[in-house]
Amino acid sequence: MASFVFHGISCAGPGGVVRPRVDITVENGRIASIEDAVPGRNPAGGYDGGGKIALPGFYNIHSHIPMTLLRGYGEGLQLKEWLFGKMIPFESLLMDEDCYWGSLLGIAEMLASGTVSFTDMYMHMPGIVKAVSESGIKANLSHGFSSRVPGQPFLESAAYEGWQAVREAEASAKGRIVADASIHAEYTTDTESTVRSIADWSRGEGLRMHVHISETRKEHEECKIRRGGMTPTAFFERCGIFDSPTTAAHCVWAEDADLDILAARGVTVAHCPSSNLKLGSGIARIARMVDLGVNVGIGTDGAASNNNLDMLEEMVLASLVQKGVTGDPTRFGPGEMLTMACRNGALSQGRTDCGELAPGNRADIVVFDLHAPHLQPVYNPLVNVVSAARASDIRLTMVDGEILYRDGKFPTIDIERVMAEAGRIKEEKLARLAASS
Ligand SMILES: [Zn+2]
Repeated sequence: MASFVFHGISCAGPGGVVRPRVDITVENGRIASIEDAVPGRNPAGGYDGGGKIALPGFYNIHSHIPMTLLRGYGEGLQLKEWLFGKMIPFESLLMDEDCYWGSLLGIAEMLASGTVSFTDMYMHMPGIVKAVSESGIKANLSHGFSSRVPGQPFLESAAYEGWQAVREAEASAKGRIVADASIHAEYTTDTESTVRSIADWSRGEGLRMHVHISETRKEHEECKIRRGGMTPTAFFERCGIFDSPTTAAHCVWAEDADLDILAARGVTVAHCPSSNLKLGSGIARIARMVDLGVNVGIGTDGAASNNNLDMLEEMVLASLVQKGVTGDPTRFGPGEMLTMACRNGALSQGRTDCGELAPGNRADIVVFDLHAPHLQPVYNPLVNVVSAARASDIRLTMVDGEILYRDGKFPTIDIERVMAEAGRIKEEKLARLAASS
C-alpha cells in the first residue's frame, strides 16, 4: 500500500500532548513515523495539515447500532415503558436487511463524527456484520443473550447463532471485526445456571464480554430482591462473567463494593452520559471509578436513547457533568477525556495497537479543521477541539490507514441510498404497528 502523509499538521499524542506542525506518515495501515515538518516542503500528494489537528479516532464502546432506525421514536417515556412499549414492539419487526441499512446509517454517522471502532450489542448479526465489513469501520460485535425462551440452553439460543455469524466474518476481516460474548443484563436473564454456562463458554473460547449493569436504580434494587441480596455486579462476579475481559455499560447505581469488584477484575465501564440523562437513569460515579483504577471509556448507547452517535458531544458532556457533580474543575480535562474516548476504549476491545497516535500503532486518525469562528483563537488546539468543536469540523476519518470519510463524502457507503432506505423502513414498520394495534 502506498504511503500517505499528513503534512504540517498538529498532532495530539499520548495523554493529549500536542505537537505542532508534524508530518505523520502512514504505511500499510499503520503510523510509520511522526516527525517535525520541514516548512514549505509538502511531500508530493501529501495532505495539507495547515490549520488542522490530528486526533486518534474515537472508540464508541457501547452502542446498539441498528437503533438508528428508532431515532426519535418513543420520546419522553419511563425506561420500562420506552423499552417494552415502544422499542421492543418495533424491534420485533426488524429483519437482517433492516439492520443492515440501520447499521450503515449509524456507521456513516460515526465516521463523520470521528469514530473508528465501536462495541455493539444487538441482534440480526448477519445484517450488522455485512454493514461493518462493507464500510471498513472496526467493531467488536455481539448478540446480547436474554432469556426469551425459558430454560433454553445457551448453545441453542439466538445469541449463540448470532455469535457464530460474527465469528465466521471475523476470519476474513483482518482484525477489524471481533466476535464478543454478551449477556444483555441481569434483569433479562432467568437462572443463574444459564449465566454460568455463558461465562464458562466465553472463558473457554477466550472471548471478551459485553453487558449492561445497574443502569437504573429499579433494576439494581430488584436484582437484590431476586438474587438473595446480590447486586448485578456481585451476581455476575459470582457467575464467573468477569473471567472474560468485560465491558459493562452504565454502572450508574453500582455501590462501593461493586466498584471495588470492577476495579479488581479489570472490568471496563462504558460511560454513556447522554443516555443516562435522557432516560432519567442518573449520573455514574466516574471520578470515583477512575480513582479506584477502573478503566473507563465512553459510549453513546443506541441512537434511540441519545439521540445521536457523536462521541465528541459525549466527551464534552461527560467532562462537564463530572466537573459539576464533583465540584472540581481541575479534573476531566481534554487530555484525560481523549484518553478515555480513544486509548481506554481501544484497550477494552483488546486492540492494544490502537487508540494513540504513535509510530507502530494502527493509523486510526481524525482530522479537525480549526478554521472556524468557534475555534479561534488557538492557545491549545486540543482544548478547543474537546471543549468547543463540532463533529462538522471533522474533515477526514481514517481507519487502519484507509480514508472512510473525507469532506462530507463516504467512499465506501452510498449515503443517499442508506438514508432513503432508513426512511422506507420507518414507514413500513409504523404501518405494520398501526395495523396490529
Ligand atoms: Zn445499551
